[in-house]
Amino acid sequence: PTVFLNGEFLPHDQARVSVMDRGFLFGDGVYEVIPAYGGHLFRLQPHLQRLDNSLQAVRIPNPYTEPQWQGILEELVGENAGTDQSVYLQVTRGVMERRDHAFPADLKPTVFAMSNPIPEPDPALAEHGITAISLDDIRWQSCHIKAITLLPNVLLRQQAVEAGAAEAILLRDGEATEGAASNLFIVRDGLLITPPKGPLLLPGITRDLVIELAARHGIPYREGAISEAELRGADEVWLTSSTKEIMPVTTLDGVPVGDGRPGPLYRQMHGIYREYKQAVREG
Ligand code: PLP
Repeated sequence: PTVFLNGEFLPHDQARVSVMDRGFLFGDGVYEVIPAYGGHLFRLQPHLQRLDNSLQAVRIPNPYTEPQWQGILEELVGENAGTDQSVYLQVTRGVMERRDHAFPADLKPTVFAMSNPIPEPDPALAEHGITAISLDDIRWQSCHIKAITLLPNVLLRQQAVEAGAAEAILLRDGEATEGAASNLFIVRDGLLITPPKGPLLLPGITRDLVIELAARHGIPYREGAISEAELRGADEVWLTSSTKEIMPVTTLDGVPVGDGRPGPLYRQMHGIYREYKQAVREG
């Protein structure tokens, strides 16, 4: 498959990055993951806006304008427009002559992007849901930045997988914030609740879309903190992400959520989401 690296499209096995790249040495960079359905990049503008926010937050200049980004990503997707894909892009601060934590202002960012096929979500997921465990959030205080420095997320997800779960739901100071690679919603008495944006969670594009779809379809929702007790007492728990879409959590820490099956509000939102996605796919 073809990848994009620093202005060039080339076969992935010919793409080379310096060992002195700050992404390699320090994890000094940011990234995005954007699905494409039927060749159409899904929610492209909000993804590019979040990329720009991440870059600004870590003081890496944005190497491209939005139309330039769009051109690059569409070219990568265009190769396999017939299959659903996930585009990964990352921008690191660039290459230095010698290793030094502090960075000069004039580095040229390293830009990498690739596109890979993704399967449709497994229908068993909508039918049975997933298992999650809760874990203490061991990450930093700037989780709103989509940084490539993912070691805590990697360790948390691995711990979940080794416990037989699909995802970890993270707790900090008595509140549930998000998953290791997903945002969190609960349903209580028909009300959809998700934590407000802030430095302790990633502002998910899927999260925003779910809220937008709830508003459009008259589903009551609120952005508010979710305490650990509220998480454990919820009628429904969902996790959202661009590639996994909406996942109903039916077991949390070995205990059934609600009646242990995907709930009625999940089934409604899942249908609404699928329709929205299909409309995008058909252009
Ligand atoms: N939270 C974290 C920590 C993530 O890594 C992700 C994405 O993988 C999300 C939330 C979901 O974000 P999005 O819906 O934009 O994919």
